[in-house]
Amino acid sequence: MEKKDIYTNLLDLETKMDNLHSELGILKLEVKKLLEENQRYSLENEQLRKVLKREAEATASASSISDNPAELHEGGENIDIVGEGYDNLARLYHEGFHICNVYYGHLRTEGDCLFCLSFLNK
Ligand SMILES: [Zn+2]
Repeated sequence: MEKKDIYTNLLDLETKMDNLHSELGILKLEVKKLLEENQRYSLENEQLRKVLKREAEATASASSISDNPAELHEGGENIDIVGEGYDNLARLYHEGFHICNVYYGHLRTEGDCLFCLSFLNK
């Protein structure tokens, strides 16, 4: 191999390494994005499981209350649907989810949401 060829090969190699390096950078960003997404879904999943569990418990205790006529009056049989819906939304918000129509159902990752709060204060 002549000296000129060696140098040319070296330049080639350097170019390939540069390309690999930028590909690596792109892949790193992709992986970072996926990890963040995964983290978000894990949190969301955890929150939803809690809500689901609470709903199941609430349903169970609600049916045990209605089985007992004596407790009916304390059980709040006069709860209006609107109030109940509002409570559910307020709870969902405190569980860490958006209830505003802008991001509804998404996990709140940056503290309070002004849209949600203005909705709650209506
Ligand atoms: Zn919101």
